[in-house]
Amino acid sequence: MKLLHFSIPPAVRLGLVLSVLAFSLRIAPLPEFWVTLANYIGLYGLVALGLVLLTGVAGMTSFGQAAFVGLGAYASAYLSTVWGVSPWFGLLAGITLTVVAAYCLGWITLGLSGHFLPLCTIAWGISLFYLFGNLDYLGKFDGITGIPPIGFYGMDLSQGRDNFVLIWLFVIWSCVALHHLLNSRSGRVLKALKGGVLMAESCGVATMQYKLLAFILAAVLAALSGWLYAHLQRAVNPTAFNLTAGIGYLIMAVVGGVGYLGGAVVGAIVITLLNNWLQNILPSLLGQSGNYEVIVSGILLIALLQKSPKGIWYWVEVHVNFPLSRLSNSLRPPSVKEPLQGTGPTSNSLSISAGSNGLSAKTACTKLAPRPRAHRGQVVLRVNEVCKSFGGLKAVNAVGFEVKASQIVGLIGPNGAGKSTLFNLISGVLPLSSGSIEFLGNAVQSLPARARARLGMGRSFQHVRLLGQMSVLDNVLIGAHTRAHSSWIGAIFRFNQAEEFALREIGQECLRLVGLEDFAQHLADTLSLGQQRLLEIARALASDPILLLLDEPAAGLRHFEKQELQRTLKYLSVECGISVLIVEHDMDFVMGLVDELVVMDFGNPIAHGSPAQVRDNPVVIQAYLGGID
Ligand code: ADP
Ligand code: MG
Repeated sequence: MKLLHFSIPPAVRLGLVLSVLAFSLRIAPLPEFWVTLANYIGLYGLVALGLVLLTGVAGMTSFGQAAFVGLGAYASAYLSTVWGVSPWFGLLAGITLTVVAAYCLGWITLGLSGHFLPLCTIAWGISLFYLFGNLDYLGKFDGITGIPPIGFYGMDLSQGRDNFVLIWLFVIWSCVALHHLLNSRSGRVLKALKGGVLMAESCGVATMQYKLLAFILAAVLAALSGWLYAHLQRAVNPTAFNLTAGIGYLIMAVVGGVGYLGGAVVGAIVITLLNNWLQNILPSLLGQSGNYEVIVSGILLIALLQKSPKGIWYWVEVHVNFPLSRLSNSLRPPSVKEPLQGTGPTSNSLSISAGSNGLSAKTACTKLAPRPRAHRGQVVLRVNEVCKSFGGLKAVNAVGFEVKASQIVGLIGPNGAGKSTLFNLISGVLPLSSGSIEFLGNAVQSLPARARARLGMGRSFQHVRLLGQMSVLDNVLIGAHTRAHSSWIGAIFRFNQAEEFALREIGQECLRLVGLEDFAQHLADTLSLGQQRLLEIARALASDPILLLLDEPAAGLRHFEKQELQRTLKYLSVECGISVLIVEHDMDFVMGLVDELVVMDFGNPIAHGSPAQVRDNPVVIQAYLGGID
């Protein structure tokens, strides 16, 4: 009988060690002042953690987090003083209120691009500040006093030291939860949001849901900090939640390293200590008191960010070998190291088998089972009289053709002929001006790109769209997103491990198919352009596509790499039953690969037939080769 292996994840192990440390510091003879500072660092760190998720990971800047801190603080302060309910109920109410507010606000604003979102968060921050300050029952600008301390099993956490443990337990376990979230299928999508949503949508991901998730989670962390603050201070007033505070939280995250969870805590430590130190030292240096620390800390921060724009955590990771780099390395997600059996161009299917990797992986793989293939001769894609105009320019004009199951169709034409536009029309990135597109017999022209991807269209982009700072394997796994089902909550509690393992096997197999298996753990940025194109194909393959749309996949590849790609694409069509529609300029490559060719010129279809027919077509020679033999 096999013994079940149970191992504690590294992040949880670290969390446990730090929790024990927090408990032991409670009884350590630390001066009360230091305990108070540590409490504030923890409170700020929680908000900054949310900003790491929102700004550093998902690329959405918010100046309005202080308003969410206020929401958590005021909700519990009001309920526990006026209604006399337990602070724990106040926490529940505060978080519920925050989730509802963040959802509504996010739903309205997250579709906005560029500077509109930060502007909206500023407006939101200012509005809530004045709302707190003008409501009679919230005590106007005087706020609410007499807030009870948090009780825990009959014990009141009225001492700073007791709050210290509670605050830091929240900080530590929020870090652990976010670490697990970021190393899951949801986390990969959150990281993908930063570079725009086009790629993720083309992989079948409903990106708006993930934007909302990041926004709500960041707001909840802020509200949690507000709740702790209200019951630590035992009084709240609007000043603590104004726009300056919102900007301060963002500065902490940026200074610490907005791309790193640890950066949030480091930023909170540095800014809090710096402000405190300057407040002490400046009056004696300048001989007068005033808010000079704001000016000096501003100058110091500019100097610091000049030195290390990615923040202190990044700087330490690069320049000091210990402890942050070792810590980060030990927290990296596991990779599939063993080569998989029976995959690659010698195996007979792209379907994934669990191999000898245990029952849990097998169970997960059942969920990740390949979709049914189109049967021989079935028309997979039918393009009917499709037109697309950009203003007065007819980029695609009445183009029609079919792609059958297992067929490889080439789309060729001179530069500007409309090939990429047609690709975008087929994959749903652009809306049609007229005509229709059928995929597996269903009209899909009104479906968004993500819905078409879910039906089985996988695509690569002419200008590669990869996440350069993510590993090659993680890039591929974004393609496999819709094949898995684990939720973000499951990821936080690590219920997704069997599925993650199966996903990694799929990713590794797709990398093997394009010859990139040795680069799985490299950063995508470090690959050559040719390899990046192959990575785009691997990502498309990971979605288990029925139709593969490849826009100039061989551009930048060397001769032998092109031959290898040709073999792989033939293997995919013949052995795996995948249909391929390919745009390519290299005529040798195309002629030796495709079953049929469609030729476009100035948006018009000018020829359609086998490579031999097209090669001899005088119209094509005239248009494509400019009349040269
Ligand atoms: P190809 O891929 O065949 O080289 P494209 O499909 O990229 O050609 O472009 C076809 C024509 O449509 C070009 O004249 C191009 O300038 C124009 N075009 C493409 N995309 C847009 C767009 N988003 N807005 C306006 N014109 C566009
Ligand atoms: Mg193009």
